[in-house]
Amino acid sequence: MSCSRFVRLVRAFAVLLAVGVSCGVFALAHAQATAATPHGKLLIESIDVEGGQSTLLVAPSGQSLLVDTGWQDHNGRDAERIAAAMHEAGITRIDYVLITHFHDDHVGGVPALVARVKVGEFLDHGENREDAAATRNNYAAYLKAIAGHPRRIVHPGDTIPIKGLNVVVLTADGQHISAVPGIKPVPNPWCAGEHPWPDDPTENARSAGILVTFGKFKFLDLGDLTGKKEVALVCPANPIGKVDLYLVTHHGMDWSNSRAIVYAISPRVAIMNNGAHKAGKPAAWEIVHTSPRIVDLWQLHTAEDSDAAHNSPEALIANPKGDGDGHALKVVALRNGSFSVTNTRTGQTKQYPHQ
Ligand SMILES: [Zn+2]
Repeated sequence: MSCSRFVRLVRAFAVLLAVGVSCGVFALAHAQATAATPHGKLLIESIDVEGGQSTLLVAPSGQSLLVDTGWQDHNGRDAERIAAAMHEAGITRIDYVLITHFHDDHVGGVPALVARVKVGEFLDHGENREDAAATRNNYAAYLKAIAGHPRRIVHPGDTIPIKGLNVVVLTADGQHISAVPGIKPVPNPWCAGEHPWPDDPTENARSAGILVTFGKFKFLDLGDLTGKKEVALVCPANPIGKVDLYLVTHHGMDWSNSRAIVYAISPRVAIMNNGAHKAGKPAAWEIVHTSPRIVDLWQLHTAEDSDAAHNSPEALIANPKGDGDGHALKVVALRNGSFSVTNTRTGQTKQYPHQ
């Protein structure tokens, strides 16, 4: 072997060694990054609270947000279901509980929840303004239950600081945002054909609603916001853009889910948190089902007072018959915008690729 050939071989070996070392370093760095974010995925679980709302979000950082707590009574049934969902998600506390409004099917579960689960901070739209004894009682019970916990009143434009997610409050106490940072409002062609909606003096119209962004993935939850406020939010310009996942507003009641909002946000997938005999109205189902980009409309229950033409196929329904089973719908989303939905009754998962 000539001297120069030997030198070339030594150089080639040195290059190979350097590449090997840097790959090793890269692999180690990658492993460390993976360990810091165990799955790199956002979990959104629509917990079955039999026609109320309770939606658990767990970010890759492990930080969590629970939107609403289901009903009071039933021996803490809904709090038990929330605790079970937390256990499965591997979390031992909820960092933020957002109460959308002070109706029993959303705030009623708070006393039972705080008896079982550690909560970091409660968020809500501010004092109850509904002139009804039941709602005043709900609000009083809520204030009593959260005594000793931090409480923050949220306004449109506020954010909920969960590491790795961008959570913006769109609506609260009857007010709404006109622009979301990073999203250019666009004229909404569906406003022109919208019919007038009545004033709603109830707590529904004051629902705190949020837009959750995780990379390219977007999730919209507006609580029980009713038609007039929905239209005010997205007309004449839509500040939300399109979303991947839509929690069908107000459990699929037909005094929410105006065409102007549902068609404008044009979700790819929707989850309706109806009960066996609560909401899931044909008109609301039809609007979501015919919206421009919809692939699937999942339901927590068969809407048993509706008909077969206004219910999804059984594979997309967590609880096909009656109440009490408590099966959930679990969404797992990636930053690239792809996500999956699992029906915990069947164990089957459907994938939705990124776009
Ligand atoms: Zn409700």
